Amino acid sequence: MKAAVYREAGKPLVLETLPDPVPGPGDVIIRVHRCGICGTDLHMTEGHQWQFSPGTVPGHEYSGEIVEIGANVTGFRAGDLITALPSTGCGHCEACHHGNLALCHNAPGVMGGYAEMMRIPASVAIKLPATLSAADGALIEPLAVGLYGVRMSGIQPGDRVLVMGAGAVALCTIYWARRLGAGRIVAMSRSARRQALALEMGADAFVHYGDNENDGIVEALGRQPDIVFECVGTPGFLMKGIQHARTLGKVVSMGFCTSPDQVVPAVAGYKGVSLQFPVGYALKDFHYVADVMDAGHVDPKMLISSVVTLDELPTVFEQLRGPNNETKVQVAPRAL
Ligand SMILES: [Zn+2]
Ligand SMILES: [Zn+2]
Repeated sequence: MKAAVYREAGKPLVLETLPDPVPGPGDVIIRVHRCGICGTDLHMTEGHQWQFSPGTVPGHEYSGEIVEIGANVTGFRAGDLITALPSTGCGHCEACHHGNLALCHNAPGVMGGYAEMMRIPASVAIKLPATLSAADGALIEPLAVGLYGVRMSGIQPGDRVLVMGAGAVALCTIYWARRLGAGRIVAMSRSARRQALALEMGADAFVHYGDNENDGIVEALGRQPDIVFECVGTPGFLMKGIQHARTLGKVVSMGFCTSPDQVVPAVAGYKGVSLQFPVGYALKDFHYVADVMDAGHVDPKMLISSVVTLDELPTVFEQLRGPNNETKVQVAPRAL
């Protein structure tokens, strides 16, 4: 099969021919239909402390059709369209007991969506509802990221929310903040390009970064935010979040910044601001997201800004490191 392989930081992904995957007794093999490109994939190929080991096929936002089934697998059939948690979990550690397999460091991840085929443990797979397409299925992971973060914030009905950033994580966060009870929501970003999307996903107002951002936020919310979701992931934004949060408010870091990011603890302390760092999700979150999409209130497919082939992926992947107009790019390894 063809796959895009990470070999070295600072170099583009390399298209290689790898052996077709073979299912273990508990596995299924899928033909990948869609796989989203995630900011984390970009971060983890930049050569920071946090990076993939060479030889990794990245891609954790995937969906596909089952083409082969392991001997012990029940509940799935060839032809089923599925997605899966990109983590397996050892079943014994704190993270696994909590249900958040993404935080288990004792078991291998399930990545490899930048390829024509993938092996997936059936234990972490979910069958997509019949109304969902492969494109929908590959959005369940990023939506689950937003869901987990918003839930962890302990959002209360009527809470005023600031979401910093307007990329896919930010938009998914807006989506869930709206559905889990937020009062007014303001999105803040550098450019107005995604203003319409932010409003469509559930924001009430949009503010630009800049000298008057504080006034804009307070005007939009009626007061300082109870919860600030930092969805940018570059240094400086955690501190910005602390400055914007109300006294005794919360700042939720969802940007997954992989380089050092300075904050002044006393500023947070003097306001009683608490910081949270949600990462991951549980299998039940995937089911919940699929159910909400199935109910069809909003079509998150509006997040998909481009669909590219595997051949195009290495070039597009590098382009995404710079300024661009994309929200969520999905790879379609095979023309459907
Ligand atoms: Zn992701
Ligand atoms: Zn574990």
